[in-house]
Amino acid sequence: MNTKPLQGDIALVTGASRGIGAATARRAAREGWDVAVNYGRQAEAAQAAVEAVQALGRRAIAVQADVSDEAQVLALFARVQQSLGPLGGLVNNAGIVAMKARVDEMDTARWQRMLAVNVLGSWICAREAVKAMSTRHGGAGGAIVNLSSGAATPGAPAMYVDYASAKGAIDAFTLGLAREVATEGVRVNAVRPGIIDTEIHTDSGDAQRAFKSAEVIPMRRPGTADEVAQAIVWLLSPAASYVTGEVLTVSGGR
Ligand code: NAP
Repeated sequence: MNTKPLQGDIALVTGASRGIGAATARRAAREGWDVAVNYGRQAEAAQAAVEAVQALGRRAIAVQADVSDEAQVLALFARVQQSLGPLGGLVNNAGIVAMKARVDEMDTARWQRMLAVNVLGSWICAREAVKAMSTRHGGAGGAIVNLSSGAATPGAPAMYVDYASAKGAIDAFTLGLAREVATEGVRVNAVRPGIIDTEIHTDSGDAQRAFKSAEVIPMRRPGTADEVAQAIVWLLSPAASYVTGEVLTVSGGR
């Protein structure tokens, strides 16, 4: 059972330079976590996320790594644990979409990148986190939260079926890994956001998509990054000590 004290734990949040990841870093700091802020390309934004955590009285470092590259992920985990200490939490948040398209318009390179970042990246990071946290490997336990998507269930036809398929893989991975490590002090859950107001929608070709979608959301508004972050940080925390293998939808009722 994961009964570790909340204060003093160390969490790695991938893709934490902006959006849901940056909000998760801040929210985790408020709840007593020291935070490793992983980022892809935006060093300045990652530094701002680090400073936001530090302003809340917690330790933080920024570490650049492409989560789809195994060597970079191994270096990321080594750096985090050398700089901050033993890992207690992983948020597999880094993710990408691509331009709105039909499947018969998508090239193979797009599919490969979509799966490499959204699926392979989460798998490699989770594997390294299990090695660091599982009691089977001498760790003290911990929690993993993966980012699924509301797109996984309807499959996002004529939008991005590739992205939806990748997030469907995350759902299955969450259930399987959770059951695999359930007796080893590691809980594994996912958060399934609906339509959230972040910059990700620009990459699908419509920066205003979140607000334009309001009428199909029962609450008639997109969610905020912080509303998703609160669910993530709850699942990371000992308050969720008996929750594992769960996919928690945060979607305003959609
Ligand atoms: P976002 O605003 O576009 O931010 C994406 C973050 O991921 C950035 O920090 C980016 O870093 C990082 N990133 C991208 N590729 C990376 C890579 N290969 N390696 C490391 N970091 C990488 O996205 P978001 O809306 O916050 O989404 C966060 C997660 O929630 C994603 O998994 C997404 O699929 C999921 N989600 C979002 C929504 C939504 O409506 N926003 C809905 C459902 C699910 P740099 O900027 O530094 O490159």
